Amino acid sequence: MGYGSRAEMARLGKAGGIVLDGADLTDVSTRIPVTPDLPRRMEIDGEPLDPVAGLVILLNKPLGMTCSHKEDGALVYDVLPDRWRRRDPAISTIGRLDKQTSGLLLLTDDGDLLHRVISPKRQVAKVYRATLARPLNGTEAALFASGELVLEGEDKPLAPAVLEVVSPTEALLTVTEGRYHQVRRMFAAAGNHVEALHRERLGGLTLGDDLAPGEWRLLSEGEIASIF
Ligand code: URA
Repeated sequence: MGYGSRAEMARLGKAGGIVLDGADLTDVSTRIPVTPDLPRRMEIDGEPLDPVAGLVILLNKPLGMTCSHKEDGALVYDVLPDRWRRRDPAISTIGRLDKQTSGLLLLTDDGDLLHRVISPKRQVAKVYRATLARPLNGTEAALFASGELVLEGEDKPLAPAVLEVVSPTEALLTVTEGRYHQVRRMFAAAGNHVEALHRERLGGLTLGDDLAPGEWRLLSEGEIASIF
């Protein structure tokens, strides 16, 4: 779970840094069954144990961070506890947002969940708020809803998407696919340019305003179920 090596954890246990059911756990060779309530029963350095598996994180992604494990510069993983970089299985983003897109981003160590959310078969709706360089011309909604729009460099038309106009230069766009730079390329195909892009919703999950940019929280079972 990334807390440390066996030797480091043995030292921490001896120093009283591991508590199980209210008592110091000084012998770290003790076998403890992994039950769902373990994070409520165990403390490491005064903090509840991290979820053992099936972690789903909701992050309000700030601008300027990349959804990659490898690239240089600021990564979305930088906002999470350092030890989570060492977890196995690794935590990955569920799909990606561009460096210059903000908003709702999920991360998980659950590979099955990740594939279910991004699978085209599931058609999980994603809602983006786009701020545009030029006023909408009134043809975009029909173009995006047509199911016939082919993005530059591609052969397969996009699935129908729903456009809701908020103001002459702002719109909410609901898409069910996750193609590369999809929203920016859709507006480019309509002769416009996206100046700012923010994801507000994924399936039944809304970002809301309890998380400032860069803040995150773990999702409950009920919230995870509401994605689908
Ligand atoms: N579409 C884009 O163009 N960028 C994103 O980050 C997400 C959807």
